[in-house]
Amino acid sequence: MQLRYRFRLYPNGPQRGALTRAFGCARVVYNDALRARETARSAGLPFPKTGDLSKLLITEAKKTDERAWLGEVSAVVLQQSLRDLDTAYRNFFDGLKGRRPRMGAPRFKSKRDNRQAVRFTANARWRITAGGDLSLPKIGDVRVKWSRALPSTPSTVTVVKDAAGRYFASFVVETDPDEALPETDAVVGIDLGLTHFAVLSDGTKIDSPRFLRRAEKKLKREQRRLSRKAKGSSNRTKARLKVARAHARVADARRDFHHQLSTRIIRENQAIAVENLAVRGLARTRLARSVHDAGWSAFVTMLEYKAARYGRAFHRIGRFEPTSQVCSACGVKDGPKPLCVRVWTCGACGAVLDRDINAAVNVAKAAGLAVSACGARVRPGHVPAQRGEAGTHRDGHPTVAGIPLL
Ligand SMILES: [Zn+2]
Repeated sequence: MQLRYRFRLYPNGPQRGALTRAFGCARVVYNDALRARETARSAGLPFPKTGDLSKLLITEAKKTDERAWLGEVSAVVLQQSLRDLDTAYRNFFDGLKGRRPRMGAPRFKSKRDNRQAVRFTANARWRITAGGDLSLPKIGDVRVKWSRALPSTPSTVTVVKDAAGRYFASFVVETDPDEALPETDAVVGIDLGLTHFAVLSDGTKIDSPRFLRRAEKKLKREQRRLSRKAKGSSNRTKARLKVARAHARVADARRDFHHQLSTRIIRENQAIAVENLAVRGLARTRLARSVHDAGWSAFVTMLEYKAARYGRAFHRIGRFEPTSQVCSACGVKDGPKPLCVRVWTCGACGAVLDRDINAAVNVAKAAGLAVSACGARVRPGHVPAQRGEAGTHRDGHPTVAGIPLL
């Protein structure tokens, strides 16, 4: 199985300059090729081939005065940039043919883009030095923070600069297939909700950790500061960089949280069932911010690849299963309930049910997993309301975790 590994890079001053040149040259070749293809298309001419573009826009262009500086960077970086454009076109055409989700036509790149990247393949003769630096052609030996071990030697490295001005080396490596974890009898259903990040069918409720919430608060503060700065001022530029840094920290904290939680769930359970959230549908509603912030789809993707990697079963349950309308104890369907109803008593069997845990148990059952419904039951008279979970707004409209209901 192929996995992406990312490590922080610390280029020195001259190396940063060389990287900026490489990003710039890769971008120019990409844009030149895009322009050549779009011009051919609007003139009704055949689609220019990659080999021809490579000759024209790299080899020949280097001999001209306007593009002589292309020679200052590794030719492999420029070739890879053309490959990227090919991939962008292929994805676009496959989308039109319905082979994958539709996406926009390739677009021109700008030096103001949030992400700048160049790729070095084996042909570029990049390597990891004896001292642990990343040696890149025409850039130099760049210091790397090796935060974990690479399972195998990668052939390609992508160097990325993000909006916060940080540099990363990104590798795609092949991992061993026989990493299966010892078998266990435990199985779990997961409900991804609005009151908690996730609720497990054994009754565990998981909130996002404090370090993530703190980073999110800081981001909101910096965003407010940015909105108060005058347009075009140097203070605005500074504030924008601060927002980008806060944003990067939130993204990192969220990814760490997703990794820790998904690893724990995979390690502890033989089979995992998750509701296939219609995230796109939800995102159009007023719950959008909350849905995006929670980053469920990234988390579910992690669960899925880790399950495959460690020999666990992974089930996605379709959205059509009415997980909150069915009693997980007796199976009677008693209809939809407004979001403010967190606990109810089943009219058929008398079980007192917790909305989120009941849903998690139903998700597991819909996947054919044998879980106990005990966790979903709440002892009568012992129903502490979560702070800020369900309440009434000043204007009388019920809210869930501060989000007005639809
Ligand atoms: Zn019941």
